[in-house]
Amino acid sequence: MSSVSVLESLLDRFRQIAATLRDTRTGANKRYSISDAASCALATFFFQAPSFLDFQRRMQKQAARSNCESLFGVEKIPSDNHIRNLLDGHDPEHFAPLFAECLQTARDNGALQPFLRLDGRLAVALDGIQIHCSDAIHCDLCSTRHVGKHKTVQYFHTMLGAAIVADGHNRALPLMPHFVQPQHNPDDGRSDDQRKQDCECNAAKRWLPAYIDLLRPFRPIIVGDDLYCCHPICHLIQTLEADFLLVCKPGNHKRLYELRHDDFTHSTDWLRTRNQQGQSELHRYRWQNGLPVRDSADAVHGTWIEFEIQRQGQRTYYNTFFTSLHVTAENVAQIARLGRARWKVENEAFNCLTCQGYNLKHNFGHGSRGLANLLATLNLFAFGLHTLLDGMRGLWRQVRDDSGTRRNFFDDLRCLSQRYWFPNWTALLTEMLAGDDPRAGPPHALA
Ligand SMILES: [Zn+2]
Repeated sequence: MSSVSVLESLLDRFRQIAATLRDTRTGANKRYSISDAASCALATFFFQAPSFLDFQRRMQKQAARSNCESLFGVEKIPSDNHIRNLLDGHDPEHFAPLFAECLQTARDNGALQPFLRLDGRLAVALDGIQIHCSDAIHCDLCSTRHVGKHKTVQYFHTMLGAAIVADGHNRALPLMPHFVQPQHNPDDGRSDDQRKQDCECNAAKRWLPAYIDLLRPFRPIIVGDDLYCCHPICHLIQTLEADFLLVCKPGNHKRLYELRHDDFTHSTDWLRTRNQQGQSELHRYRWQNGLPVRDSADAVHGTWIEFEIQRQGQRTYYNTFFTSLHVTAENVAQIARLGRARWKVENEAFNCLTCQGYNLKHNFGHGSRGLANLLATLNLFAFGLHTLLDGMRGLWRQVRDDSGTRRNFFDDLRCLSQRYWFPNWTALLTEMLAGDDPRAGPPHALA
């Protein structure tokens, strides 16, 4: 399948799924469909342009057609207010099948190839991210905490993100996220941080059984922060016939570090290598098998790994991991590098969503019944589509490569789609390619 066909087909599926959202409106005022509202929100995230819809509304008014219609199948563009009202209250899980289809499509079209490690396996990174925090704006699904001297109430949303990651490149393919809605008991004597941790762990305990079937053909390795390196989660992952590779800090694993001893630790020599910037580095890996994750008779046992990098005599990276994988002198480097890729889910996926144009905290608003969670889900789906298309051969990839940087690509995409009408994705992407050729004429100008 060509990259454009894949995009059109997944956008079709998106519309089909959005069309089955339950319409609870009563009365005759049904001018705008929920499906159009969802597609407009997705278009905004896909183009990474908060003002995209304003331009399309103007185009619609002036020329009776818009890119919302031709590229996203929108019949009528609702106002931002309508979008908010139509989408608020719907369960983000409704869109979970799309993430599964994105993964299958990536597999069928070779886009998963760059993610395969350790003899064809996939690493799935879990990480929590706060997607909303305010002293004033809140909804029914907000969590709360008390901050500062005056114990001011703060409202927030936390999402457990999951993404397929790999060392050696900067891509991440998001999976369906899970939203944390902590139960507060002000008398439980725990700090807000402890409560947050409890909640992210609980979200992981719900996410894993729900999505592991989808991942099982890829023999998943769950990678994550020290927060998830605890007996219940390690045990759950093993019960689900997956493996774990988790950061393991001394402060939270006293028994493990008491039993770890240099006499029983295997070590590689300092291995000279070059990083992606071509700088010379020394890497060393140490590991010890058969250590418990906690001090109990039934504790999950695994292998402790230490990974250290030095450059010009200075330590530039140090981390320790706990894993259920069988570690040997031959594979320890591969495993440790995969553990290090854990940060990608944060840096590549979520920072990208919040900082690099995806406008995770977009001004459609917070809603009163969990709109923020639904918008974050649609935003992640847009990000997933980009990763999928980036990983495929075809017109999309050609334009991406031609643009040089990701930023240039989205600037061009935004600029052209806001000013000109395109009958389909092929026309838009072809125009972007031709745009670099000074002999090319103006686009199929409309405005
Ligand atoms: Zn809220």
